[in-house]
Amino acid sequence: TVILGIESSCDETSASICIDGKIKSNIIANQLVHAKYGGVVPELASRAHQQNIIPTVDEAIKQAGITKEDITSVAFTRGPGLLGSLLVGTSFAKSFALARNIPLVEVNHMQAHILAHFIEDPKPQFPFLCLTVSGGHTQIVLVKDYFDMELIGETLDDAAGEAFDKTAKILNLPYPGGPLIDKYAADGNPKAFVLPEPQIPDLNFSFSGLKTAILYLVQREMKADPQFLEHRMADLCATVQDRIVSILLNKLKKAVKQTGVRQVAIAGGVSANSGLRKQLQEMGEQRKLDVFIPKFEYCTDNAAMIAIAGYHKFLQGDFVGQEITPLARMSVG
Ligand code: ATP
Ligand code: MG
Ligand code: FE
Repeated sequence: TVILGIESSCDETSASICIDGKIKSNIIANQLVHAKYGGVVPELASRAHQQNIIPTVDEAIKQAGITKEDITSVAFTRGPGLLGSLLVGTSFAKSFALARNIPLVEVNHMQAHILAHFIEDPKPQFPFLCLTVSGGHTQIVLVKDYFDMELIGETLDDAAGEAFDKTAKILNLPYPGGPLIDKYAADGNPKAFVLPEPQIPDLNFSFSGLKTAILYLVQREMKADPQFLEHRMADLCATVQDRIVSILLNKLKKAVKQTGVRQVAIAGGVSANSGLRKQLQEMGEQRKLDVFIPKFEYCTDNAAMIAIAGYHKFLQGDFVGQEITPLARMSVG
């Protein structure tokens, strides 16, 4: 089977070809237009998807060394995401399936972030725990099967990616700030400042207090040293990153204890963070857990994860018809 995967939920237009469960291409068109606005502008995102989708799909087909006639099924992101963006990928996938008379498969973007772990070895076995940390979500998911997932914890306010991006804004760094904080943090002292750890019950998260604490810290310090940000950027980034990572991993430890499940994975854009990757690895060694960390290219939005999810749905014969519509909100469970 040859699956064409399409991703267009936010600001990446991506297409991927998966042949018999192996990813052959994964083309990602990033939208640079949003940087000057400090965040994704939905209207501009859908317009850019319209411009990018055909060249992106063409390139994915070309790099896989196939022709469009070889494709046996199309999988697309149905949601969650920006409706205008989702509509572009959904319409394209529906038209392609109709024109070629091949089955259509809908994919849940949050399930796909998790299923990226099935692209390459080593693959986790069911059940496993996945900490999904992205621009819009922070979740702990008990993954019982490919499409049988239970949400056991989530953020009550900002997502972890948002915490990185909003902090970056306070620090005058351009959008998206997550990768930049990661970069500066490498040269900083993670204990340079004191930031609070929120006391949230159960397996839920909160990041909005952290953002406020950073804002007050910066305002206070700038009174004494107007050049505070320039002088202490590395220490600030290291401290913030260390606190976000400790909030995430403390809840993951709690989830391991609570469920008894000893395979743990991370997924989503923030799983590219080097502090999170390193500390999860150490946690795995200390507690004798099986740890799964995705390759960098499968952390942030990509169509390979849509294609692999689509492949497993294809095997189950789980298809949708032309009446399918995208959904801005969709639960992982
Ligand atoms: P969702 O999947 O919830 O719909 P999204 O698709 O926009 O949201 P992703 O593309 O999975 O999110 O991830 C983007 C987020 O990941 C951004 O907030 C970005 O700052 C963050 N991010 C990417 N790389 C890093 C890094 N190295 N360190 C910290 N954060 C990072
Ligand atoms: Mg994105
Ligand atoms: Fe995503």
